[in-house]
Amino acid sequence: MDRPAWAPEGVDMQQASPARMYDALLGGSHNFEIDRKAAEMGKTLVPDLPRLALSNRAFLRRAVRFLADSGIRQFLDIGSGIPTAGNVHEVVQGIDPDIRVLYADIDPVAVAHSRAILRGNSRAGAIEADLRKPAELLGKAAETGLIDFDQPVGLLLVAVLHLLSDSDEPVAKVADLRAAVQPGSYVAISHLTSEMRPDDAGKLGANASTENRIGIHFRNRDGIVAMFDGWDLIEPGVVELPVWRPESERDLHEAPGRSLGLAGVGRKA
Ligand code: SAM
Repeated sequence: MDRPAWAPEGVDMQQASPARMYDALLGGSHNFEIDRKAAEMGKTLVPDLPRLALSNRAFLRRAVRFLADSGIRQFLDIGSGIPTAGNVHEVVQGIDPDIRVLYADIDPVAVAHSRAILRGNSRAGAIEADLRKPAELLGKAAETGLIDFDQPVGLLLVAVLHLLSDSDEPVAKVADLRAAVQPGSYVAISHLTSEMRPDDAGKLGANASTENRIGIHFRNRDGIVAMFDGWDLIEPGVVELPVWRPESERDLHEAPGRSLGLAGVGRKA
């Protein structure tokens, strides 16, 4: 298969990537056959997987609207993924065109496509960076001039921390980010969980690692709540994706009690 124009040189088209698998689940077009196969296999195991992806995107939209309404004027979206409907800059710049957004992702396809759609938008950008190296990531973010770390920041860690293994110390990585931002900053986190459906979580996690060589770490509630250590949790706390401040019936992509994701928002006092 030829390398499509949107895929930067050097991308391994034989290895599935979480960014491209998720794009495939959401019906996007920036994925390879291997990613589509992986997404299909996931759907065979857990047929409501696409609803989980939609439920997560809906949480992201509600959380960033909440942060913008709470006064946040700059967003650092880590593990931002391949742009799709309802991107953060579209949501928040629709509220205030002066809001600045920086996307950061480890996946070169996600970064290249983000840059392509942001051409001409002087208040948004994208960097290639690794959440497992927060100091480096924060340095790159500061260099762009889009994020002023002397002002409160809206940190987004949406559907990314479950791609870090326990040995990557995800709780410590969130703490490093917290230490770098001013009081009044917020963090929004969503995370795959084994809490409600341990069997389905086990099947998906095992399949991702054996078939696709991707580590996906479903964590229980305590493991996810620990990521908010040092942040004041905003009501309703850490809850299933569809029940974090739903705005309408349309937000209920997954039935409460059946979600494979937990989410919350915290504020640095
Ligand atoms: N945040 C978006 C959302 O929730 O719709 C995209 C989530 S997607 C499931 C996870 C993203 O995290 C992928 O684009 C992947 O490349 C990125 N990612 C995985 N590990 C990462 C790391 N160590 N540092 C930065 N990004 C990472």
